[in-house]
Amino acid sequence: MTSTTYDVLVLGAGPAGENAADIAARDGLRVAIIERELVGGECSYWGCMPSKALLRPGEALEEVSRVPGARHAVTGDVDLEDALRRRDAFTSNWDDAGQAGWVESVGVDLIRGHGRLAGERTVEVTAGDGTSQRIVATKAVVVATGTSSASPPIPGLADIATWDNRDITTAKQAPRRLLVIGGGAIGVEMAQAWKWLGSEEVTIVELFDHLLSREEPFAGDELALALEKMGITVHVGAATQRVDRDGTDGPVRASVRLGDGSTTTIEADEVLVATGRRPNTDDIGLDTLGLEPGRFITVDDHLLANGVEGGWLYAVGDVNGRSLLTHTGKYQARIAGAHINGVDTKAWGDTKATPRVVFTSPEVAAVGLTERQAREQGIDVRTVRYDIGHVAAASVLGKGHKGTVQLVVDAARRVIVGATFVGPRAGELLHAATIAIVGEVTLDTLWHAVPSFPTLSEVWLRLLEAYRDEHQVRFA
Ligand SMILES: Cc1cc2nc3c(=O)[nH]c(=O)nc-3n(C[C@H](O)[C@H](O)[C@H](O)COP(=O)(O)OP(=O)(O)OC[C@H]3O[C@@H](n4cnc5c(N)ncnc54)[C@H](O)[C@@H]3O)c2cc1C
Repeated sequence: MTSTTYDVLVLGAGPAGENAADIAARDGLRVAIIERELVGGECSYWGCMPSKALLRPGEALEEVSRVPGARHAVTGDVDLEDALRRRDAFTSNWDDAGQAGWVESVGVDLIRGHGRLAGERTVEVTAGDGTSQRIVATKAVVVATGTSSASPPIPGLADIATWDNRDITTAKQAPRRLLVIGGGAIGVEMAQAWKWLGSEEVTIVELFDHLLSREEPFAGDELALALEKMGITVHVGAATQRVDRDGTDGPVRASVRLGDGSTTTIEADEVLVATGRRPNTDDIGLDTLGLEPGRFITVDDHLLANGVEGGWLYAVGDVNGRSLLTHTGKYQARIAGAHINGVDTKAWGDTKATPRVVFTSPEVAAVGLTERQAREQGIDVRTVRYDIGHVAAASVLGKGHKGTVQLVVDAARRVIVGATFVGPRAGELLHAATIAIVGEVTLDTLWHAVPSFPTLSEVWLRLLEAYRDEHQVRFA
């Protein structure tokens, strides 16, 4: 076994690992990144990018169909072959040469293989040909090994062929009947995409009482209505009790207890399991450090792993479980990279104001606390809602451009602690809310931030006016 030394080793070249390596290398440290599959990680090849590419054609058609004068030009449906070609281009046909080139261009060495921690500051890498090398990091090791699809303990599920996020984002044809277990972000996005792409029957089964169970209930409910309107069957408050399949690729039959207590059987050609993620930590040598394999690596706000002495082991991105999103993982990577370089910095933007966008039509975009979370924290909560359909820009953009927007306000401090936007392109409205929360901008100051006419951002003015009137306050 050969042995090498670097200042910093990064385990996993997804978005979080790539960014940690880049930032750590900027001040002249010698950095290597270890990757066992594709440089770019889940997001580039089986997550964000292909899923958004699959959604966009249907969304574009829907958008035009709401604009009198233009809608008559839309004469057909989504072209599946063309849409899949675009998806394949988005993922560079699952070839990471471009991203590997970027890693090298920022002065980071790429080492291909499966990495395992082997005691303090040491990683052992096993290459595809079975050869191993031991690498020592003089300063730090950053674990960024991400997550994989988790499977719930539903009787029968482990015995049949099912789809996870990798299968659904790489599929070459639309299953005629698609059952989606789990109404979170991945489930709802893929249900809508494949309905647009040609699946005739799409059914979502969600255990909680509304889709997107971690968001405001009204957001999931408005999304469910939109999905049902396009022919998707949505069961909320419903438990999948058993799943069977005829042979290896015959029809799937799922027995589901519905919210009203009755039981139904759903037949499908494929079943997407989208009920959560598990950390990729079962085979990365955590036991050599006294940490438990298979668990998220909990961290402090420097992104240093709890329970590891010496301040040398960081964990960024999905693997620490703080927030399972690309942009928050990259933020953590920036903080960890700077901390390794001696900057006294801590992460808080990923927990205090996590921006989340579900790219369905309508989009659901949220940041900060939900109303319930704010109340649980003992905040003196006031909320205000407005229908974005009532701002002038909405009617300019098209018929039926609507959706609820809500602010959660800390009334005592007169600052926003949470915001939710539902509607077409709602995600583009989100960053203003993120800035307001991160900057603790008071409502009195926001009153002087004048939105342009006619833009959707005018909803900010309408919300402040509604807050003023409903809660009898004045802005200076
Ligand atoms: C369908 C889907 C859609 C999504 N859409 C969005 C979205 O729109 N916006 C958003 O913000 N997030 C989205 N996400 C979430 C996003 O993909 C993740 O949050 C993000 O990829 C996490 O980045 P990461 O670098 O932490 O981990 P990953 O992207 O999982 O990368 C980890 C890397 O580590 C490598 N690795 C693991 N173990 C080892 C080892 N032992 N040795 C060497 N290499 C190893 C893996 O091969 C992988 O390349 C989506 C996820 C899915 C599944």
